[in-house]
Amino acid sequence: MKKILTFISICGILFSCKGQENNMEQSKTYAITKTEAEWKADLSDFEYYVLRQAGTERAFTGEYDKHYKKGIYQCKACHTPLYDSAHKFDSGTGWPSFYQAIENNVDTSVDYKLGYARKELLCASCGSHLGHVFGDGPRPTGKRHCINSVSLEFKSTEP
Ligand SMILES: [Zn+2]
Repeated sequence: MKKILTFISICGILFSCKGQENNMEQSKTYAITKTEAEWKADLSDFEYYVLRQAGTERAFTGEYDKHYKKGIYQCKACHTPLYDSAHKFDSGTGWPSFYQAIENNVDTSVDYKLGYARKELLCASCGSHLGHVFGDGPRPTGKRHCINSVSLEFKSTEP
């Protein structure tokens, strides 16, 4: 009987830890936070829809789909550098695609919007939605970061 009770209490501890983890995930706080009213004031309606409501621009309509100048792509919402043009490639999907992000500046989360799990990409500074990452990219990473142009702003490093 004592063994059973010990077992039950261990289960209880495991479950409560798991619960706390989930709560932490949901209440993740970012270095840059604004109220919804502030985001709306700072972004266009379409930028707000994509960046703050995880919307998606239509394929082949974004400014940076066929854009191959040398420079850095920053977060449109908070200007954090997210992607280097050196890691951009033409995926043919109609969205700007990168095989890697600038280290530590892009966060991932899981979204079930289409009924199955997709890895969502977020700005690690402000939590704004960027796009999704898929496992069919080129070497060396094999990743395809599929990003909305409207989530980005380009800063040229060409002389
Ligand atoms: Zn940001």
